[in-house]
Amino acid sequence: MSLSPENRIFKNLDGSEGISLAASQKRGDWKTPKKLMEKGRPWIFEEIKASGLRGRGGAGFPTEKKWSFVKKTGLPSYLVVNADESEPGTAKDRDIMRYEPHKLIEGALLAGFAIEASVGYIYIRGEYYREACILEAALREAYEAGFLGKNAAQTGYTFDLYVHRGAGAYICGEETALIESLEGRKGFPRLKPPFPAQMGLYGCPTLVNNVETLAVVPTILRRGATWFSSLGRPNNTGTKIFCISGHVNFPCTVEEEMGIPLRTLIERHAKGVRGGWDNLLAVIPGGSSVPLIPKSICDTVRMDFDDLRDVQSGLGTGGVIVMDRSTDIIKAIARLSKFYMHESCGQCTPCREGTGWMWRMLERFSKGDGNASDINLLEEISHAIEGHTICGLGDAAAWPVQGLIRHFRPTIEKRFDEFKNHGKEKRSS
Ligand code: SF4
Repeated sequence: MSLSPENRIFKNLDGSEGISLAASQKRGDWKTPKKLMEKGRPWIFEEIKASGLRGRGGAGFPTEKKWSFVKKTGLPSYLVVNADESEPGTAKDRDIMRYEPHKLIEGALLAGFAIEASVGYIYIRGEYYREACILEAALREAYEAGFLGKNAAQTGYTFDLYVHRGAGAYICGEETALIESLEGRKGFPRLKPPFPAQMGLYGCPTLVNNVETLAVVPTILRRGATWFSSLGRPNNTGTKIFCISGHVNFPCTVEEEMGIPLRTLIERHAKGVRGGWDNLLAVIPGGSSVPLIPKSICDTVRMDFDDLRDVQSGLGTGGVIVMDRSTDIIKAIARLSKFYMHESCGQCTPCREGTGWMWRMLERFSKGDGNASDINLLEEISHAIEGHTICGLGDAAAWPVQGLIRHFRPTIEKRFDEFKNHGKEKRSS
């Protein structure tokens, strides 16, 4: 399985070509927005549905279904682009905005048109300053060319798009926290329902979509749902951008066909695991919030929603974090726990207290301080957090810990034994 060059949607993901409007048009962007919009909203919905596109931000929710939840209520509708990419191990949206900004802007116009929004916001992570500047420049070009604003793309439809920089909180990637932040408040996730599609930005129906999801929409509409759904496999169609980092010989961001075997992905694009495939310990396949998988699973697993779910992990953002045998796996997961503790907004007790609790236990475990019943307690805590919080950060914090215990319990126990034996040796000497 390999994505042929003519099936690639992102032709400038490595930044080897220009990013101006003219350069983007040469790659096929902004070719026929008017024609696509003249085919009508029902046609756009039908194509996106038939393509099988699922959200590329992490949850994998069917895109057309999410769009269809935005109902006309007499209030204005809004489109919000979630560009608050902050998941450790993930930099795909960064590269889209950096090297293919017009794909995102065109996708926002088409999605905005489909849901009858006349205003859209790109909420971009504060640290992505350079990308925000690139987007601003690309927006100016799109306005000057008549693709945005009044009579966008000569269709009589008005669509304005703005860039809004966040202040750097991971939690603002959660869509309701993002909306709170956009409204000028602290990025606290809201209780759902109501969902943003019913009551989102300024209390109005709002569609929040990830950068990659929107950036593939123009190509799907131009080349057709049949083409897109012919890639990958049923329920896991199309292409996906993967960011491969960690202990590989060539960390990179690449677009590949959904369902590519993990091993092929790493060996073909990242020039293999440092020290060879047999030196692999584990991989976190979808950004830091999905459970890790050990080498035995990495040998055969495919990179798509269903295959990774079947091995109790997830495709998430497609951020592939590779860890070789030199990794202290307990310390690595402890470090992730510290991240989630730091990023918890503190609204719910299980997340506020539990993330810190898990981090402190793992820190202790990494030094060998603990016993078998402590591992059970840690697991229990993770389950007390999972599913008992306002937003998904609680789950995101619990899953890496559960993955560690599921696959590396003997490693933790061995560390305890070493610590005990070391203590005995010290006492006897
Ligand atoms: Fe805040 Fe954590 Fe609760 Fe989400 S789960 S609302 S981050 S405390």
